[in-house]
Amino acid sequence: MILLRLVDKVAVITGGARGIGAAAAKLFAENGAHVVIADVLDDLGATVAESIGGRYIHCDVSKECDVESAISLALSWKGHLDIMVNNAGIAGSEGRSITTLDMDQVRHLFSINLHGTIHGIKHAARAMIKGQKGGSIICTSSAAAIMGGLALHGYTMSKAAMDGLVRSAACELGQHLIRVNCISPHGVPSEMLLSACRRFGNVDITPQRLKEIVGTRASLLKGRGATIEDVAQAALFLASDESGFITAHNLRVDGGHTSADSNMS
Ligand code: NAD
Repeated sequence: MILLRLVDKVAVITGGARGIGAAAAKLFAENGAHVVIADVLDDLGATVAESIGGRYIHCDVSKECDVESAISLALSWKGHLDIMVNNAGIAGSEGRSITTLDMDQVRHLFSINLHGTIHGIKHAARAMIKGQKGGSIICTSSAAAIMGGLALHGYTMSKAAMDGLVRSAACELGQHLIRVNCISPHGVPSEMLLSACRRFGNVDITPQRLKEIVGTRASLLKGRGATIEDVAQAALFLASDESGFITAHNLRVDGGHTSADSNMS
């Protein structure tokens, strides 16, 4: 017998049109959840939503009113909100060196990775407090927030700030039985990682080559690189009642990379 872990739960997933977010949307739906996908990639997002019996809404998370509309859609569709996944994110292109950092690019990156997450926590918390049934808010952070040198400065800062926000929001929202956690993935072969590799010189990289690289260099589990499904499974756990006593936590889905030097194993 397969245990469905999110029966009748209602979830909003930002950045759910592809990659980690789409994998989470599919897994949540397979586990009985009703899922609203909120993204800027309308064709992809609508296709994923249709395939899982969910809803799609165009939502640029940097715009507070868009995030509010995504949550309103969930409420008008099913009457309540149980799970909010603040997953939308970009890698950024603000330049490698702190000495030449492009501040306009940093601000743009913050508006999505950090402010987008603030918008998600704020409006999900309002809906969940009103619903009086608690809830689970999950934010996709990054191993880059824990270990220097994994990403550009702006991205690293945006995710480190997100980790602080998660702890601080968890403190306030615990009284309403709303749990707030984050996941820190590393080296997941997605479109984001692929285009970041290309932007920084590895123009010939292919999805297959990227998988081989993350399997050998970005994990203690040699030959076993991360997959989008690995991160989706972590999100499922944090969304479900099985993690009911876990809040203010940062769940690393990194093959041990941030705890030990992968090149030594
Ligand atoms: P991805 O590019 O496949 O997915 C990102 C999704 O976010 C896309 O669907 C994109 O359209 C959406 N998005 C981007 N800007 C948006 C905006 N302004 N409003 C709404 N949606 C927007 O990449 P992914 O790897 O699946 O990334 C998902 C999350 O995981 C991101 O927050 C990323 O920072 C984080 N992450 C990824 C890795 C990795 O190795 N791939 C590692 C650590 C953290």
